[in-house]
Amino acid sequence: MSGEVLAHLQQALPNEAAGLVMARSDYIFFYKLPVLATRVAFQLTPDHVLKLGTRLAENGEVILSTVHSHPNGRLGMSALDGSLAWWSNDHLLVSFDLVTTSHVISFYKSQLL
Ligand SMILES: [Zn+2]
Repeated sequence: MSGEVLAHLQQALPNEAAGLVMARSDYIFFYKLPVLATRVAFQLTPDHVLKLGTRLAENGEVILSTVHSHPNGRLGMSALDGSLAWWSNDHLLVSFDLVTTSHVISFYKSQLL
């Protein structure tokens, strides 16, 4: 799954991208969020928020962690990232260095934002 996550985030560069690590019954999968993104922020359309809520309720799926990228290499969650706590207490952040094309993966808990 980590290859799929990285590919999704890299494909959106130089803009941010996002997804969710989700669980259903006994398997875990990556859900790509169709976000509207810039180089420093992203947002989900109200339509898709409703769609996702319905999916969670109908399929018995749960969100284990949010995932998103910072293409500007910024480490640490931003003030805007605080709203991710609506989805999960756990957050994976992938910070890309566009010059060296390397990346750093960090893990955050909502209460530390
Ligand atoms: Zn962020």
